[in-house]
Amino acid sequence: MKEFLDFVKDHYSTEPGEFIPLHAPVFRGNEIEYVTDTIRSTFVSSVGAYVDRFEDMMKSVVGTKYAVATVNGTSALHIGLYSLGISDGDEVITQALSFVATANAIKYTGADPVFLDVDKDSMSLSPAAVGFFLENNCDFKSGHLVNKRSGKKVKAIVPMHTFGNPGRIEELKKIADRFHLPIIEDAAESLGSFVKDKHTGTFCKLGIFSFNGNKTVTCGGGGVVVTDDEQLSKRLKHITTTAKLSHPWEYSHDELGFNYRMPNLNAALACAQLEQLGQFITEKRNLAAKYIQFFKNRNENFKNEIPNTTSNYWLNTVEFQNRKDRDQFLKETNEAKVMTRPAWNLLNTLPMYQNCISDSLENSRYLSDRLVNIPSGVKWKG
Ligand SMILES: *Cc1c(COP(=O)(O)O)cnc(C)c1O
Repeated sequence: MKEFLDFVKDHYSTEPGEFIPLHAPVFRGNEIEYVTDTIRSTFVSSVGAYVDRFEDMMKSVVGTKYAVATVNGTSALHIGLYSLGISDGDEVITQALSFVATANAIKYTGADPVFLDVDKDSMSLSPAAVGFFLENNCDFKSGHLVNKRSGKKVKAIVPMHTFGNPGRIEELKKIADRFHLPIIEDAAESLGSFVKDKHTGTFCKLGIFSFNGNKTVTCGGGGVVVTDDEQLSKRLKHITTTAKLSHPWEYSHDELGFNYRMPNLNAALACAQLEQLGQFITEKRNLAAKYIQFFKNRNENFKNEIPNTTSNYWLNTVEFQNRKDRDQFLKETNEAKVMTRPAWNLLNTLPMYQNCISDSLENSRYLSDRLVNIPSGVKWKG
């Protein structure tokens, strides 16, 4: 324990007693300049040059043709699902081991999440679990894929790249294609993570990212939907801006729209942060490499990126042998002002999702009992 605390304190060069957060935002670039620029220009709201610039930057960072900025990652996921026509009475497959926003965005459309298991190594949605569920529990009825147990239509899959470690998205896509299911990648945590040379969030119909304060880069609050589908990107832009028809003075809206556009003020911050993404990833991967060395001959198992993937190591993660050891570590580290956190409670155990369908969730339960996130942000001094 002492060795771990010393290791972390040494890495972050902190003073005795100084708090070490899990992942704090660091502003070393043009943040103040760009944000000040929006204030001077008065264009702080949902129209402005930084929103366009942010969308262009995201396109080039992840390599998609289109990017639509939103107020946060949750709204990006919600509007993505909504744009695919997912609604009341549908079902969407996702993982139980995720942040609550993944399931909430599904629920906002009126659909129910179906919670399937993750792979132990990637901690992300298991292609085997999804394949098993679709083959054994679903049937095509008059052109729709129907869950035999609930009678509801299964409409999409939302895998999540857990803690920035990419999951088996190519295998998942093959299965989804066989069942004609679109995938929306919840890549909220995996900006800067790749499978082979392709950025996470870009393998399927839609991908979303978050720029919340705890993410790899932040703009206070923000999100983005990325896609190569031109029609879909136009519709996303339209319905995130109240579905307003362009006109010199009239207010006319041609469908139910949402006020989900990212303000220019936030976009300015996002642009300045994105300029530093490469540097942040280098530093984060260096820290992960140091942790890998540190945990090499210890009982705890550091969660390494799986083969053929490059993780941004958003939150470095360690797997303990059992829940008791995990809890002891959580207690001692937090008391020593070194912030560590367990993985989320599985989503199927939360009151609003208790009645949702799930599989055995064997790996999810195993991991949920044993995982701990350890300090992972870039250094804020030196
Ligand atoms: C952060 C996060 C989101 C969305 O986050 P916002 O706080 O709404 O930007 C969605 N899914 C996952 C897995 C996340 O970690």
